[in-house]
Amino acid sequence: MSYKSIGLDDRLYEYLSAVSLREPDILAQLREETAALPNAGMQIAPDQGQFMALLVKLTGAKKVLEVGVFTGYSSLSVALALPQQGLVTAFDISPEWTAVARRYWERAGVADKIDLSLGAAIDGLDALLKQGDTEGTYDFAFIDADKENYDGYYERALRLLKPGGLLLIDNVLWGGLVADESADDADTVAIRALNLKIHADSRVDISLLPIADGLTLALKRSAAG
Ligand code: CA
Repeated sequence: MSYKSIGLDDRLYEYLSAVSLREPDILAQLREETAALPNAGMQIAPDQGQFMALLVKLTGAKKVLEVGVFTGYSSLSVALALPQQGLVTAFDISPEWTAVARRYWERAGVADKIDLSLGAAIDGLDALLKQGDTEGTYDFAFIDADKENYDGYYERALRLLKPGGLLLIDNVLWGGLVADESADDADTVAIRALNLKIHADSRVDISLLPIADGLTLALKRSAAG
């Protein structure tokens, strides 16, 4: 036994999956189709999707923000967990990837729960904030897009969340590179900077979970701006 999180080798991860995964067929099919794409590594792990769905139910979320859709695994996991009147406001730059996502949202019968905007998510989030009646109204947000803009997404998502709203940030351990001093590429530097900033950020309560590639949970405090 150890004070730190247990390392998952393949055998233990298989066991974890065997005794806990309840992946719906539609998500398994999406995962299989995505695995054939060149950027397949961008898809979240099935246990993470299930965890996010659990968080949606736990928080009773209705209004969800997603920055970075890819082929739609996380948005579909979340949409399936949302109540009938739930809505995911989603952003992505890729018509090709999100065409796959849309096909699966349709098949799963949740297409009307997901409002996708194509284009730069920073602009999309700014446009959303400019509507005036959106700030402080979202229950749940997931950031999983280009890492150099992570700080910009974080600040905007925090404004859009209501007090008590939950923000999830993906890839915060970045394959271990964040702890490798020799790594100084732009993505690693951006993730490191945001991790440090969030650690000291009094606007949120936090937990960094070593699930998949690292997932930070940040709960917006009541006094947060
Ligand atoms: Ca990711």
